[in-house]
Amino acid sequence: MKVFNLCCRDEHRFEGWFGSSEEYDTQLASGLLLCPICGSDAIRKLPAAPHLSLSKDSSDASSPDNAQGAEVIANPSQAQAAWLRIARHIVENTDDVGEGFAEEARRIHYQEAPTRGIRGVASSADRSELEEEGIEVFSFPLPKAVKSPLQ
Ligand SMILES: [Zn+2]
Repeated sequence: MKVFNLCCRDEHRFEGWFGSSEEYDTQLASGLLLCPICGSDAIRKLPAAPHLSLSKDSSDASSPDNAQGAEVIANPSQAQAAWLRIARHIVENTDDVGEGFAEEARRIHYQEAPTRGIRGVASSADRSELEEEGIEVFSFPLPKAVKSPLQ
């Protein structure tokens, strides 16, 4: 079992566990390695951590390494599968309103449009305005595979 410290283009750090370094190379080359935080596939390997605890229930949870709050993914492919499931669920249960997201969210909130789940693109300014109006919005990075029409 190999544990690599990985990092995406946006400097989100996470650990990936692989059967071998070849497995890492294969997953990286086929775009299967995604940042669990933003979904980016621009992943690179960081130098190995000098003190890496592999024990799952290690008692040194207060050691400086763990205190950094690095996310540990015991099984990256499982985490990705869960993420894909959620993403598909969102896609199947929401209307894509694209750029008109903020406007449509308001229309639904003020009952000018049928109540339903929608998804779309909103700037962070849009999101904070909606929140101020009491409209709940949450961000979820959709994997590329789910954005395209479902087969
Ligand atoms: Zn990221």
